[in-house]
Amino acid sequence: MNYKDLADLIFPEAKPIEYYEEKYPERDLPEGAKVVRFAPSPTGFVHIGGLYQSIINNTIARQTGGVFILRIEDTDQKRLIENGVIQIVNSLKDFNINFDEGMINDNESKGDYGPYKQSDRKEIYQAYAKYLIEQGRAYPCFATPEELEQMRAKQEAAKIRTGYYGVWAKYRNLSVDDAIEKIKNGEPYIVRFRSMGNEEKKIKHHDVIKGNIDFPENDQDIVIIKADGLPTYHFAHAVDDHLMRVNLVIRADEWVSSVPLHIELFKSLGFKPPKYAHTASIMKDDNGKKRKISKRKDPEAAVSYYHEEGIPSDAVYEYLLNIANSNFESWRRGNPDKDINEFKFELNKMSVSGAIFDMVKLLDVSKNVISKYSKESIYDETLSWAKRYDEDFAKLLEDNKEFSLKVFGIERGGNKPRKDIAKWSDVKESIEYMYDNLFMDKDIDYVYAKIDDKSEIKNILSLYIEKYFDINDDKQTWFDKIKDLAEETGYAREVKEYKKDPDNWKGHVGDISTVIRVALTGRQNTPDMYEIMQVLGEASVIERIKRAIEK
Ligand code: GLU
Repeated sequence: MNYKDLADLIFPEAKPIEYYEEKYPERDLPEGAKVVRFAPSPTGFVHIGGLYQSIINNTIARQTGGVFILRIEDTDQKRLIENGVIQIVNSLKDFNINFDEGMINDNESKGDYGPYKQSDRKEIYQAYAKYLIEQGRAYPCFATPEELEQMRAKQEAAKIRTGYYGVWAKYRNLSVDDAIEKIKNGEPYIVRFRSMGNEEKKIKHHDVIKGNIDFPENDQDIVIIKADGLPTYHFAHAVDDHLMRVNLVIRADEWVSSVPLHIELFKSLGFKPPKYAHTASIMKDDNGKKRKISKRKDPEAAVSYYHEEGIPSDAVYEYLLNIANSNFESWRRGNPDKDINEFKFELNKMSVSGAIFDMVKLLDVSKNVISKYSKESIYDETLSWAKRYDEDFAKLLEDNKEFSLKVFGIERGGNKPRKDIAKWSDVKESIEYMYDNLFMDKDIDYVYAKIDDKSEIKNILSLYIEKYFDINDDKQTWFDKIKDLAEETGYAREVKEYKKDPDNWKGHVGDISTVIRVALTGRQNTPDMYEIMQVLGEASVIERIKRAIEK
């Protein structure tokens, strides 16, 4: 009996590998086009790291005229959840990530290189495992879990490398005849790779991000087909990335130590290995200590967090690209209005030690991104957020649509748009004083800053509405009148004037504006007060100031 008989006994139905090589031909793509993939396990949780990987893959595929594939790695059947795929697809779609090929929901896919779900590729893996057995590069292993446990304990006690290799690989040298007999007797087994590597020898590898790395060769006889007939990650990686004609594997750097094994697998299967780019994890600064961002400790590790907070997905996208590539920030500074897709991403400009995730910075990026939105988009986005997370606020926006659009239009659209909104969940806080029914019902604690004498405040406000306020004034006239009011009450018309001779004045025009602003809004800082008055209208301005006078 020979290897071929053993292979036929184990995988009698498997097709010859030529069948698949023909079915999935080399792709006809322009020079330099990258075929990349995102390959998550559908565990019901999209991690920020997965989004980060997807953004990088997406950018590289678009930039090179390549292909971006979504492959679902569901060979660990214990960890699966229902609707896991659709959750991934939808989460990423929210961030404008659309795949060229791959799964589109739990059961359907698009593209000619599928199936794109590993559990549907069983016969393909078995064909390649059969080929390896025929070549003498894979074999059935009958070790029981107890046997493996004992082996491990011995290795640990002797302080030597753990694993199934060399002299420890008990079934590696079992004769074909003995193996066939065991199988015929119904003994359970799995299929292992027969490594030809030598731990003492080094391989040189060039990683697109990490640069040149030396590794010891692989010598582990890893499992390739498990007892349930499904492949392990390593084997599936080689078969899938080869047959999907992936030429650049971008993945998390937890896999970098598997490179020697993967290269050996590719070569023994007769495949050309892809290029690898191992991305460092996103890190957090935890009181001065750098650590990986964690699903357990950091709410922002879950992609769903950004939705709940109402941080727009284009802001998150831009921020992640920003931390992914060190030259993004200066590009953005030079090109504030350019489409993000025009940025030229370079994998070799990625951080090797892991970029730090900084929420303050993200919110800053978000403020900039939102400042470019039209008032209609702000209205729509805020409303759609509020419908999910704040029904009262949603109703307020819907009942007052025209008015709300005016509120969102304040200081927007010009060349210095307001930058006070970082997330949709902030909007209510930032604009609620504009709505008479909310503002007038609320007990306001007026804090007037510099001027705090009650009768002085009363005098300023009364004079303002009696003598100076006219809703029909243009902005210049309106402001001149506030200056007139300042002068009449003993304050300098200009800050400059006041600074020249502070003893001569009670204060300056800014102090007067603040009194009016606080009376009008209950706040010392607001967007442009002229625009606020225009949106509120005459009656509301007078009513608000009168109330402040009474207090
Ligand atoms: N399913 C693997 C993971 O989620 C994929 C790694 C890879 O991209 O090759 O870690």
